[in-house]
Amino acid sequence: MQVEQVKPMFINGEWTEAENGETLQVMNPATGEVVGVVSYGDEKEAKKAIAAAHEAFKSWSRLTARERSKHLYALHELIRDHRDELAAIISAEMGKPLREAKGEVLGAADNFLWYAEEAKRVYGETIPSSLANKRIMVIRQPVGVVGAITPWNFPVNMVARKIAPALAAGCTVVLKPAESTPLSAIRLFELIEKAGFPKGVANLVVGKPEAVGKEFTDNPKIRKIAFTGSTRVGKLLMEAAAKQVKRVSLELGGHAPFIVFEDADLDAAVEGLFESKFRNSGQMCICTNRLYVHEAVVDAFSEKLVERLKKAKVGDGRNKETEIGPLVNQQALDKVLEHIEDAREKGGRVIYGGSRLTEGEYAKGFFCEPTVIADVNTEMKIAQEETFGPVVPILPFRDEAAVIEMANDTVYGLAAYVYTQNNSRCFRLAEALEYGIVGVNDGAPTQTQAPFGGFKESGIGREGGYYGLEEFLETKFVSFGI
Ligand code: ADP
Repeated sequence: MQVEQVKPMFINGEWTEAENGETLQVMNPATGEVVGVVSYGDEKEAKKAIAAAHEAFKSWSRLTARERSKHLYALHELIRDHRDELAAIISAEMGKPLREAKGEVLGAADNFLWYAEEAKRVYGETIPSSLANKRIMVIRQPVGVVGAITPWNFPVNMVARKIAPALAAGCTVVLKPAESTPLSAIRLFELIEKAGFPKGVANLVVGKPEAVGKEFTDNPKIRKIAFTGSTRVGKLLMEAAAKQVKRVSLELGGHAPFIVFEDADLDAAVEGLFESKFRNSGQMCICTNRLYVHEAVVDAFSEKLVERLKKAKVGDGRNKETEIGPLVNQQALDKVLEHIEDAREKGGRVIYGGSRLTEGEYAKGFFCEPTVIADVNTEMKIAQEETFGPVVPILPFRDEAAVIEMANDTVYGLAAYVYTQNNSRCFRLAEALEYGIVGVNDGAPTQTQAPFGGFKESGIGREGGYYGLEEFLETKFVSFGI
């Protein structure tokens, strides 16, 4: 493949290369090909971008919401118009099937539309005073400059979910995308430039995670950190942000239970599980990680699941018929294979798949067969840790109270799924599960206007809808003596 031109980053309205002169190659995980080369900076670019965002905040935060919205509407249109192009970039840099990538891009566009509208509804309040000579007014104001850090698994939408509400609220932003997926972020920022945002309002720093992250936590001009990624890094950022009592919102790891009761519609449950487990090759924080099936239907359910998987085409995400793409890199593949091996050693029975795919079209990529493991127990890594891959471990259960206890027995609390046709049970489970998101007879519960976020070590704060805007607002109480 021909060597690409080095792609720069976007700071203070200018396309800039890193002072250190370093570059980073971006690889397609389906083929091992280099699909782009980007300039790779560090704290120097982060400092410049933060200074620009700080300067821009002075005027951006004072615009009326309607004026800010104009740019957000424009960006929404531009993203929709470039849907196919953005989807192709996502697919090339991280392997996501094209159909899913297009869905992701539309989701990102929808965030800009939603927050263009929501920006106009940042209401305050007046509160009746206890004293005749005073009046109480409450206003909401943008928190300030935001440092946003995003992962590779939804490289466009994770950016949208942070910067759309931040910009709507009147904040300015410095974004650091993941190392493996800077190309889609760069294209998105070209559209941001086209949408006419004033210089310095939105800045893109492609650079070393520790160096840029440290600048975000230590530079007093950053007032808020919005992060999606691992629980490990989320904790580091929260700890470092505590030194200046910076606001943080964190979307971290998950370990989602998916519970199928004996009265469930098994075909709907199989489709729901397919969505929640195999979308993005199992690389989503809301992916099912433990499948609990009532013992009365476990055999019937397993058979239907295997039949469904036989129909799923694994391949390069850029092929139209692909349903399951590669894993993002060697490390991700190794972890998934390690979880399968560990389950095998501890008595798990692989009833479908179970290996890396290496022949023909799979030879150069990080492909793993969709896999189903029966007879799983809680000693196995797969029942304890986030697998982040296309593997379903089945744990049979008998009793509702016991399955709730097992489902909640984890430090994570992002998403949980329940399939049952008993209405009372739907409510009991929805309330008893200690998770920020519960899909009841729904394997794909996310929408732009709904609050997305976790309990426990899955995070803090919410993205989506009004809740997502709140994260970028301060509350000010003004007392008037009259
Ligand atoms: P994953 O395991 O999904 O890659 P990470 O938490 O490692 O999750 O990465 C998510 C994002 O966090 C990426 O943009 C990555 O570059 C960034 N990141 C990783 N380590 C740090 C760090 N020490 N400080 C700030 N950001 C980091």
